[in-house]
Amino acid sequence: MATHTDPPPQAPYEPETEAIPDDGQPFHPALVVIDMQNDFVTGSLPVPGGASILPQVNDLIQLAKFEARIATRDHHPTDHVSFAKTHEKPEFTKIVIYHPEDAKELLGKEQILWPVHCLADTDGAEFIPGLVKDRFDATIMKGTHPSIESYSGFKDIWGKNETDLPGILNERGVTDVFYVGLAGDFCVKYTALDSVEYGFRTWVVVDAVKSISQDEVAWNQMRDKGVRFTKTEDVKKRLA
Ligand SMILES: [Zn+2]
Repeated sequence: MATHTDPPPQAPYEPETEAIPDDGQPFHPALVVIDMQNDFVTGSLPVPGGASILPQVNDLIQLAKFEARIATRDHHPTDHVSFAKTHEKPEFTKIVIYHPEDAKELLGKEQILWPVHCLADTDGAEFIPGLVKDRFDATIMKGTHPSIESYSGFKDIWGKNETDLPGILNERGVTDVFYVGLAGDFCVKYTALDSVEYGFRTWVVVDAVKSISQDEVAWNQMRDKGVRFTKTEDVKKRLA
């Protein structure tokens, strides 16, 4: 029961945003829509407020001037390494995992164990109702190997297996990539960090993203690596 001593609920941190400059440099934008799937909105691993970004995401998908619109989807086998159940451990605890080829367990990564989510070919892994999915040029499936976790749309957490995303963006001469979707502090963040590394001007559209954590940590990590933040209205203006 709430009492007068409870702290007020934490308002989500909102980073400062900027308009997209029109400075005569080449500007070939693409949109990447991350993990707008049932389990992350109404299913087993819901991101707070996840459904609320759908109007912004759809508005952006329907802008005419994107060179490409690409979706990512989490798409796991039943015994995926990221599931608490696979390890018979409590959900949201952490363990150290290893790449399946790392037999000597030399390079571990500490990972959060999640509830079972986005099982391949189940409703939880489908795009949420109402998403304008017929405009996607490609869909990148992530986390399909039982022993390998992937957050980023570019590559797995070990950086070993690259997806088709960088190839598609480069083929189309993309300079600027706009990221929207779920969750801001996991798959959006890791995709955006890789995007900078691949040399794209990288924008996260903050009012079209929701995070699991409401604090500023992930936003600061992105900003420190060169990710830039903007708003749906600013993208619409620049792509008008
Ligand atoms: Zn997952």
